[in-house]
Amino acid sequence: MKKKEIERISKKLISSPKLVWDAIDKREKKRVFAFDKEYQGFLNKAKTEREAVNVISQIALKNGFSPDPPSTYPIMLMKAFQGKSIALSKSGKRPINEGINLIVSHLDSPRLDLKQNPLYEVVDLAFMKTHYYGGIKKFQWLTRPLAIHGKIIRSDGSSLDITVGEDDADPVFTVADILPHLAKKVQSDKKVSDAFAGEKLNLMVGSIPFGDKDTKERFKLAILNLLNERFGLIEEDLISAELEVVPAGTARDVGWDRGLTGAYGHDDRSCVFTSLKAIIDIKDQQKTALVLFVDKEEIGSDGATGAKSRFLESVLADLMIDNGQKPFYHEIQNILMNSRALSADVNGALDPDFQDVHEKRNAARLGYGICLAKFTGSGGKYGASDANAEYVGWIRNLFNKKRVVWQTGELGKVDEGGGGTVSKFLAPYGMEIIDCGPPVLSMHSPFEITHKGDIYMTYKGYRAFLES
Ligand SMILES: [Zn+2]
Repeated sequence: MKKKEIERISKKLISSPKLVWDAIDKREKKRVFAFDKEYQGFLNKAKTEREAVNVISQIALKNGFSPDPPSTYPIMLMKAFQGKSIALSKSGKRPINEGINLIVSHLDSPRLDLKQNPLYEVVDLAFMKTHYYGGIKKFQWLTRPLAIHGKIIRSDGSSLDITVGEDDADPVFTVADILPHLAKKVQSDKKVSDAFAGEKLNLMVGSIPFGDKDTKERFKLAILNLLNERFGLIEEDLISAELEVVPAGTARDVGWDRGLTGAYGHDDRSCVFTSLKAIIDIKDQQKTALVLFVDKEEIGSDGATGAKSRFLESVLADLMIDNGQKPFYHEIQNILMNSRALSADVNGALDPDFQDVHEKRNAARLGYGICLAKFTGSGGKYGASDANAEYVGWIRNLFNKKRVVWQTGELGKVDEGGGGTVSKFLAPYGMEIIDCGPPVLSMHSPFEITHKGDIYMTYKGYRAFLES
């Protein structure tokens, strides 16, 4: 056989994932960078689940979505719940009863929450106690500038939103760490999991006393006095507060060539932003498109605003009413059973320095496009939502047809660890669902890394899905 013929057969038969840069032309390359710039702007404004809901609703209102939409085609519904989850929907040409195209992503990211009685003083310094949220490596949160974002309900019932640490003129906060010279016994000789205790993640918030040296707790009092003068707060107000400590600062281009983006919260706001853009941009969709943004994924999807809540059913009931139908329970279940969904979440990218934890033939790689993860879970697929071969077949053909650069990925070697997403909480409705999002390096760290080509392909993939 001639060499050329062998090459032809090999090209035809062997599956080979494509690097985004090899697969797109100059014009699309330009779009990749423009899209990422907009994405970074979104990340900077949406650093908590509440801020994300605010930004999403502002963008949605500007683009024609409404909490009370007119019944002209396409019906564009926006429904937010408790300020922490939100859904946007665009009706399709076909009746809703035939099922919808659903994308679900999550708005929350790992962080430090302030405890309800946070403020104390020790060795003439004021601190606030934190309680970490989600899966973090505790040492990554030490010795870096941190900002406080959140909501406080005051004793008169009024509500206050605060953000401190993001403006250049703002102070920041930090968690201190022991100097290496004295770390031997308390850290260096210990297992990493024992060396860093949650109760040592205390936020440094003040150093100037109030009153004179006879004043009781004068460093704590100084902070309370400052909070009272500036925001009208008393200590008890902090009990009815949700204050989230996040890395201070903005998303940044990474590398000489600016091909990567470093930021807090790519997981999962990369999927949030790309699915938001996708539903705004779709045209001529056959099926009703619904993008759902939920909270609490990082702590198990529980609660009123997580993926296990009944919010999705309530949105579907609204959609049926908007379509002039009665929202009977069994009809809602039928719609869900007839639906296709993407669990829009990030995947762990092959780590250049820890390649051994991955099984390289089945690891997602930065730059190879949106990643399909057929199943999640750990060990022998425990706790997995495992997508049907039929559904995987359908979506890969769709992506190929629409020139979406895509790859597959499994989170690490079989016995290495694992993780879950919202898919296993939505699959019980009977819908087809698969995990699908960009790979991320340094996942759950204060500065996660994504590839600009992957972010763009995630948008392109979500758009193709919603238009299918
Ligand atoms: Zn996630």
